Amino acid sequence: MSIGLKICSGIGVSHVKRLLGVPFPAWTCRACGTLLLATREELPVDPRLTGPNRPCSCGSTDFDPEQDVMDTWLHHHVRL
Ligand SMILES: [Zn+2]
Repeated sequence: MSIGLKICSGIGVSHVKRLLGVPFPAWTCRACGTLLLATREELPVDPRLTGPNRPCSCGSTDFDPEQDVMDTWLHHHVRL
């Protein structure tokens, strides 16, 4: 199970938060806007310095690092 699935289901969020801290290891696909989360195998990773080790589901490898996820995406979708 990926970390992304755990976050979407609301299970294990506190564990993920402890494990990862801030910045959140995620990237937004510039082509389609999909949020790509780092896998356990990729951790630890600073998304500002390193991109994901796989292309987006749309095939693009052009990503913007997530730097404000805790204040935007995560804040609105997951109650911590
Ligand atoms: Zn994409």
